[in-house]
Amino acid sequence: MSLSWRRRLPLSPAPGGERDEVWEVSEDGGPAVELPVRVRIGKPFDVVALKGLDPEGHRAEAERARADAAALYGDDEAEPLRECPCCGAPAEGAPEAAVINGVAYHRCPGCGHGYVRRRPDRAALARHHSDDEGLAGAYTDPAVVDARLAQVVMPKLDWAGGVHVAERGREPRTALDIGAGGGHFVLGARRGGLDAEGIEVSGPAVRFAREALGVALRQGDALTMQPEPGSADLVTLWGVLEYAPDPFELLRAAARWLTADTGLLVVEVPRLDAISSAVQREMPEEVFRHLEPASHLNAFSDASLATLLWRAGLKPVAAWYFGMDAYELLSQLAVRLGAPAMEELAEPILGLQADLDAALAVDDLVVAAVPR
Ligand SMILES: [Zn+2]
Repeated sequence: MSLSWRRRLPLSPAPGGERDEVWEVSEDGGPAVELPVRVRIGKPFDVVALKGLDPEGHRAEAERARADAAALYGDDEAEPLRECPCCGAPAEGAPEAAVINGVAYHRCPGCGHGYVRRRPDRAALARHHSDDEGLAGAYTDPAVVDARLAQVVMPKLDWAGGVHVAERGREPRTALDIGAGGGHFVLGARRGGLDAEGIEVSGPAVRFAREALGVALRQGDALTMQPEPGSADLVTLWGVLEYAPDPFELLRAAARWLTADTGLLVVEVPRLDAISSAVQREMPEEVFRHLEPASHLNAFSDASLATLLWRAGLKPVAAWYFGMDAYELLSQLAVRLGAPAMEELAEPILGLQADLDAALAVDDLVVAAVPR
């Protein structure tokens, strides 16, 4: 199946950061199907308060990412991918989009998806993710956990709940978070009154959730777990598909937990068409997030994510664009010029994010979809 996507949107700016768009999809050159999509633009987020400006920490993370990439990609026998993981267009001839830590991302000429073409085999990737100690150094201070919940988790939960009310006529009651990480979303959803569960493949992350947050996650791979169909009003994948060797397979597995008349699937992905991507392409020496090939095999285009959803039997109903692009630029400059120089410029540079949001040049996209 070959899909082509178009969007219709107002020429004038979005009042209040929200607007109604129409996304059109056509299968194999057939007639276009019109999909109304409510779009939110921008997210207030005090990124410096949450993360600070820390060039030494940045360099240490980047060094770890380089070592991880060297360990994972050192094997010259790694097989190149033959086709785009989202639309199936041939991978051969796809142009290079960026080279980070010695690893190339290519862009699909069909759907615009960005992906690592030559990659380690699945067993090596699975070992890497199941032992990932990324959360070992995460803060367990309750005040920091609360700040993260307030700034990161609750706005997403509120948005997803609002879309569920608009589409399903009531608040969601049950939630399943796939790739639950340290369990923050599950904790936030429970505090928000939902009956929420989470699935996570990484042992260290499951331990962190239990010990730091008191959240018991199911440890395992959602691909091989038996779903209870219809068990979740809300199925979420926050920043998970970018890690997946086959994001379609994972999305299709996630959709099995939904039922046709109550479910809403919410998926968050990093975008290739973002200032963060451009900053990292131009300054590739100290990268540890976004286009980071030891963890991120995928960077999505709007069309590549929409294609995956459609192929999985879903249709998008709402989307939210926001990002940390200005912070990425500021942080990269601080690594080069030192924190004191950049603290002076933090406010005006971070002030640019709202303009990047308005231009949809942002590194984060959340889409809500329902079975079609
Ligand atoms: Zn593609």
